[in-house]
Amino acid sequence: MQARRHSRDFISFCDNDYLSLAFDPRVIAAATKAAREWGCGAGASRLVTGDCPLNGKLETRLAEMKGLPAARVFGSGYLANVGTIPALIGRGDTILMDELSHACMHAGARLSGAEIRIFRHNDLDHARALAGTAHGQILVLTETVFSMDGDLAPLEALAALCEEHEAWLMTDDAHGLGVVTDDNPAHLQMGTLSKAAGAYGGYVCGPAPVIDLLTSRARSLVYTTGLPPPVLAAAIKALEIMQAEPELGLRARGHAKRFCSLMGLPEPSSVIVPMILGAEAHAMSISAELEAAGYLVTAIRPPTVPEGTSRLRITFSAGHSEAHVEGLADALKRALA
Ligand SMILES: *Cc1c(COP(=O)(O)O)cnc(C)c1O
Repeated sequence: MQARRHSRDFISFCDNDYLSLAFDPRVIAAATKAAREWGCGAGASRLVTGDCPLNGKLETRLAEMKGLPAARVFGSGYLANVGTIPALIGRGDTILMDELSHACMHAGARLSGAEIRIFRHNDLDHARALAGTAHGQILVLTETVFSMDGDLAPLEALAALCEEHEAWLMTDDAHGLGVVTDDNPAHLQMGTLSKAAGAYGGYVCGPAPVIDLLTSRARSLVYTTGLPPPVLAAAIKALEIMQAEPELGLRARGHAKRFCSLMGLPEPSSVIVPMILGAEAHAMSISAELEAAGYLVTAIRPPTVPEGTSRLRITFSAGHSEAHVEGLADALKRALA
């Protein structure tokens, strides 16, 4: 949550290091030790000689945290999605996906060759209608916590819909891990180690036969170099801290709640608070005023979000202090006045 730009220090309210673990001395020490022991790079694909044992250790922890039988680590969350979706489903099958699903889920869906049907954001009736006429195997894709809006998917209802249609549910938990840890009924759960885990890499958790299949079939796993050992060690240590100190996630969520109450916004469901400002130029000018006051909140514009919904995407982390949160709210009120 500290950021430096043009040799000036800022308090960042727009990064995804939600638990402030990227700079945690314990995480840094684990990465340093791994660099000495295993080197800075993996040297090859995991299927050749790049499968440093830290991969297995990280996978065991991820599967345990998610309460699923097995896990596979990928080079990034993006690579996890573009590799997993086409490995599971193909021509003659159907993908149903929430319209606000991340770009890499859309990319994976396109690569699969399956028919893609997009339902309106969190609209169960729309999803049900599309499922009614679907062909082949059905895969339903959504996010647990939506990256640009911070709201949650109706996972129990989607899981029930999947059961009715013998479909699979796969969720992207990029913004949930360590922060919004509600039970997740999805069969396949992917996510990233680059946000609350403060490191880098992606993962997919699910039934052991599916995970085994990914190891031979996911092209973005087979044909790319394994993650650097220091990155794996950092992720393992960060997950250990995340599990031992649930107060970190609670603290970040407390900041988001406090900010919303100061601004008269509805209570947030996560640590992502969108302030939708409409026109691109308006969002840019409010962002510039905040920057002048020492707060970094980058404006998010089309095509990342729909036309006319340019926004400040404000994110809170465990490393913020109450004074930071109050300072941001004051600066924002002044900028909007
Ligand atoms: C960031 C993000 C990803 C990609 O993760 P990386 O590890 O950064 O590639 C995937 N899905 C969602 C929802 C994200 O926000």
